[in-house]
Amino acid sequence: MTTEVRQDKSDKRKVLGIFVRTVVFLILLLSIYTMVLIVNQRHGIGLTADPKTGAVDLRDWSFEARGRNYLDTGWEFYPNLLLTPEDFSETTEAFPHFKNVTISSNGWTHLGLDAAATSSSLTTMSEFGYGTYRIAILMPPDSGVVAMDFPEINHAAEIYVNGILLTQFGQVSESKEGFEHEEAYSDIRVSPPEDGIIEIIIPCSNFSNPFGGIAIPPAIGTPEQIDAIDTVSKMWISSVVTLFVLIIITGFYVSLTFRRKLKYYYFILIILISVSYEFSEKIFNPLPGDWNKLLQTTFFLLMSFVATLYFSALYPKTDENFFSRTKNWDIILIAAATCGFLAFYWINPEFLHYKTSVVANSVFVTIINSYNFLRVLYMTPRHPEQGTFHLISAALASIIFSTMIIRAPQIFFIPLHSVGIVLMIFGTAIYFTIRYVNNFNQISRFTIELENAVQEKTRSIARVNAELVSMNQMLIKNEDARKKMMSNVSHDLRTPITAIRGYIELIMNSKINTPRETINTYLTNMHTRSVQMEQLIEDLVQLTRLESDPADIKTQTVNLRDMIDNLYELYLMESEGSNKKLHLDMPDDDMLTVMGDPNRLLRVFENLIVNAMRYTTDEGRIEIRAFREIAALGGDAIHIIVRDNGIGIPAPELPYIFDRFYRATNASIHKSGSGLGLSIVKSIVEKHGGRIWAESVEKEGSTFHVIIPSATPQEMEQHKREDD
Ligand code: ADP
Repeated sequence: MTTEVRQDKSDKRKVLGIFVRTVVFLILLLSIYTMVLIVNQRHGIGLTADPKTGAVDLRDWSFEARGRNYLDTGWEFYPNLLLTPEDFSETTEAFPHFKNVTISSNGWTHLGLDAAATSSSLTTMSEFGYGTYRIAILMPPDSGVVAMDFPEINHAAEIYVNGILLTQFGQVSESKEGFEHEEAYSDIRVSPPEDGIIEIIIPCSNFSNPFGGIAIPPAIGTPEQIDAIDTVSKMWISSVVTLFVLIIITGFYVSLTFRRKLKYYYFILIILISVSYEFSEKIFNPLPGDWNKLLQTTFFLLMSFVATLYFSALYPKTDENFFSRTKNWDIILIAAATCGFLAFYWINPEFLHYKTSVVANSVFVTIINSYNFLRVLYMTPRHPEQGTFHLISAALASIIFSTMIIRAPQIFFIPLHSVGIVLMIFGTAIYFTIRYVNNFNQISRFTIELENAVQEKTRSIARVNAELVSMNQMLIKNEDARKKMMSNVSHDLRTPITAIRGYIELIMNSKINTPRETINTYLTNMHTRSVQMEQLIEDLVQLTRLESDPADIKTQTVNLRDMIDNLYELYLMESEGSNKKLHLDMPDDDMLTVMGDPNRLLRVFENLIVNAMRYTTDEGRIEIRAFREIAALGGDAIHIIVRDNGIGIPAPELPYIFDRFYRATNASIHKSGSGLGLSIVKSIVEKHGGRIWAESVEKEGSTFHVIIPSATPQEMEQHKREDD
């Protein structure tokens, strides 16, 4: 494995680790998010208006027992009018207004169907909550301190309770110019008077935010219940901040690992834009006039466009699929539409005050992002090699979508149906993570298996190669040996034939009076030569047979004691008349039985004794020993030693004496040797499962050792039965 591959692997592992952790964090956030939703559902329950006073009746509602309630209906709304309690001293009917207005949880104020307003300007500014809200609440007189939270009033407002200004944020103003936003969140506490009526009047001005006026229904309950909402809301804000920190960290790691790739610059850009968008409200709100709306909308639309660029850069364009066939026309189309939207708003910023523009933007961005998300879903199975990329894109798509979802209905309230969408998106991200992890593991496994297989193959190739090399060397050696043998055979045969022919010629050319003795000498020499030839041919035949037919050994029980004894007697007789001395040393009691071919074994010992006689001088002393050896050759064996004090074998030649035709340089003492004897002997010994070796010191003598496995009692028994 190269360092590069290992580096690449560890990079991937690093990114994978980050993503797994990111997803775990996202799940954690989602849990908090769901908890916030459950705790923070802002729907009033069973609010009814008192017929006499027109006040919302909460007399039967016990906060302790039934929890907090929400003031989401029963409001009056006086569009485009900033009124104070004094203005209401006469009658509320003095100003044109909507009755029974519902403050919906998604940021829109729904004007009641029974609206009694007549003002022609109602349809424009009123949509963004510029005007005065009024509500009267009927409480049980002994209810103690009640608390109310106004999670979001955009943007400048005053809150009057029973004629007293309790809270003020921003500068309530009829002018579109200047700083208007200060604090959208507000928390008030009040003790109901004796008649139990709490009257709340909220004049508010809003010129820059699409979600104006009271954007989210206020909660009413005991101070503890309202504090609890506050805590959860704070938790939620910190979760959102955590999410963005995570996105930034992830983006940083991703760009680090896959640097120098266009798509990752897009990725970073998206993150920057989306984070900026999140904080743009704070940054842009102080801007006068329409600038806040214009810049926020621009960011919002641009984010989706950059996301499109990113998603299209993610996948290769080479194969035939729908998204490759678009040939970037999709991007051009989205770019054109984005530019169209932006151009329109920058030329006519007043359109941003209309609800329709907000809807149009949201729909447009939702379409683009759905298209992008579909691209991920479609391309992922077609490009499994892009595992990491898919994961990033899926996570990114989730982030973009959730950002949109978070943004649209405001941070503090998210309708339950969007949880479904978020769940789906996170689910997809988790799915991709699991897929990626599985693919990654599988690839790692395959890589290891492949590496092992390659190593194994390399090893076996090396083995085969070594075998081939040695086989080749053997073939060369065999070929050399064959050539050498041919020349040896022809030489060894030609020598006696030449001699015999010479003697025949001598006899043919002999004179009539050539003495009989001379002719006899010629004939004796001829006889010796022909015996020598016959011996040579016999040796060759035997050697060939031994080598070509392994089953050529006829096995039977052979008593080596008798065989060696007979040989000893024979050669003792032959040595009579010379000074050579033969000794035999065999323990009497030992069983020297082997399983083997008696003729062949005879040849072995005869050959060794003959050699010992041949290669000793007249003062030769030849010792023959045979004994049983325990635990040799994996069982008991018979060890035979033939030792002489003859000419010995020069040390460098010792390893070759068992080779065919090999004769040591000092072997000329005995002229007629062929060099075949010991190779035949070795072959026979090995065929009997035995071993043969020689020890020798030149001019001092040689010792030949033969070990043959001894016959086991079972073998002997069986053989006996076969014979019977
Ligand atoms: P040869 O027909 O030459 O005796 P062998 O195969 O029997 O052939 O022996 C091979 C060679 O080993 C001999 O030529 C000789 O050089 C050497 N050799 C064998 N036995 C002895 C021995 N007892 N002492 C010295 N040299 C020996």
